[in-house]
Amino acid sequence: MRLPVAAPGGSAAGGGKPRPYDVMPRLGRPYITGLDSVWCPYNRDVRDVLRPRAVRGQFPPELEVRVGGLTMRGTSIAARATAFAVPELGVALDVGRLTPTIAAQGTVLLSHAHLDHLSGVLAYLNLRARFHRDEPTRLVVPADVAPPLGEALAVMPGMESVRKRMRLDEVIVPASPGSEVVLAGGLARAFAVDHSVQTLGWSLRLESAVRPALVFAADSSLEPFRADPGLLDARVAVVECTFVERGRRLAARLSRHAHLADWVELVPRLACDVLVLAHLPLMALPDLESLAEPLRRAFAGTLVLWAR
Ligand SMILES: [Zn+2]
Repeated sequence: MRLPVAAPGGSAAGGGKPRPYDVMPRLGRPYITGLDSVWCPYNRDVRDVLRPRAVRGQFPPELEVRVGGLTMRGTSIAARATAFAVPELGVALDVGRLTPTIAAQGTVLLSHAHLDHLSGVLAYLNLRARFHRDEPTRLVVPADVAPPLGEALAVMPGMESVRKRMRLDEVIVPASPGSEVVLAGGLARAFAVDHSVQTLGWSLRLESAVRPALVFAADSSLEPFRADPGLLDARVAVVECTFVERGRRLAARLSRHAHLADWVELVPRLACDVLVLAHLPLMALPDLESLAEPLRRAFAGTLVLWAR
């Protein structure tokens, strides 16, 4: 039985004989097309398939750059969502939202369990269990996070469909500073950073390379990098910059985040070729570029603002 499909502005109700079409007078053409008149038992003569239109300006946006021989694709906006994919290594860095690119990566390296970095995990496991069953799936998480995450997923309503397809105790892999994860074509190594919860940065090295291709510094104050700027010695260093406005430096310090002024001070000591400023606040790009101008001038390499 064909069910009626409501159309905006259509004259749905009406007894008696069915009418062939409703016509939008302004456009002068039927707005329901493709089907001949079919009598509808619900006294409606609106029928057909309604095609939703794409919504422009989706938020948060997914961006992509090719840097240091790798593709970086993803989203990173402070407090909203951070999730990067590096498809050449089959790896995602955090899963604060799910996109088709993130779902296609067999390994997620989770920096920490704040929701803007973690909240896509249910959607990720759902898609991996259903559409990537023949591929390995790993969720590598800080050691403190592994037990409560496993317990939560064990009782989470709706997870039965995942649990019957994959063993979550094998999927969730605890990691600590120094842990190494073998990737397709490379190796990831965890290092400690300084945030309000246990947080890991990740250094990604291509096979047979000495210097890391990419370092993901996660959410952190600058203390670890002031103590050892070599942590960010890579072709690409992805760092957070949650606070950019003057007068918010104390807020950055109290929440163990980075402030733009911290990076301006530290950047002359950094050896990375490309510095990606991620986890930026939601702000118009020209304003961000203007605020970041002192950093651009102080840095000898290429600066990327992860914003649009
Ligand atoms: Zn955080």
